[in-house]
Amino acid sequence: MSLHIVDHPLLHDIMTRLRDRQTPSDDYRALTYRISTFLVAEATRDLPTRDVPVSTPLEDTTGRRLASRVVAVPVLRAGIGMLQAFVDLVPGTEVGYFGLERNEETAVARCYYEKVPRDLGGAVVYLLDPMLATGGSAAMAVEGLLERGAKDVRLVAIVAAPEGVDLLLKRTNGTTIYAAALDRGLNEKKYILPGLGDFGDRLYGT
Ligand code: URA
Repeated sequence: MSLHIVDHPLLHDIMTRLRDRQTPSDDYRALTYRISTFLVAEATRDLPTRDVPVSTPLEDTTGRRLASRVVAVPVLRAGIGMLQAFVDLVPGTEVGYFGLERNEETAVARCYYEKVPRDLGGAVVYLLDPMLATGGSAAMAVEGLLERGAKDVRLVAIVAAPEGVDLLLKRTNGTTIYAAALDRGLNEKKYILPGLGDFGDRLYGT
């Protein structure tokens, strides 16, 4: 498993606005879309391509098209905020869903919904979950995808906590994590510090 922290000045600018408690939900959704495009571009950098013939208005040449099946699986509900950027960027994306809810008292995740495409073994599978906090829900989702045959699972997050990275490392083998920031740690309620608060609440104004 490896952790990729994506570094770009424009991404830092977006990140700071996402952290800002004054940022309203409308802006939050647009910023989430924009930061997700950076993360998705980085997380798909090594996807295989195949040569294809193409005719420009001037001559025939050879181009490259994506050669692998790609599945995006947003974790409900916060991961939905990252999905549009993913499907806009990656042609032919198939989409699955994992509904995970964390108990506010115990911070333990529970799966209440799951629908993923068949034959995950032949696809590169991207789990979209903006906050890697304890890692419990991400590990549950990755394990669920592995049980359904996935061989190449990557997590695209916006903020990661060291605790979540460690847990994912322990519980799943070979998951690659892409994130925009590795924050300091978790508070007693298992929120990431400095973090950006409850991502779903900020995204949807709840
Ligand atoms: N989920 C969130 O939305 N925020 C956190 O800080 C941790 C988990």
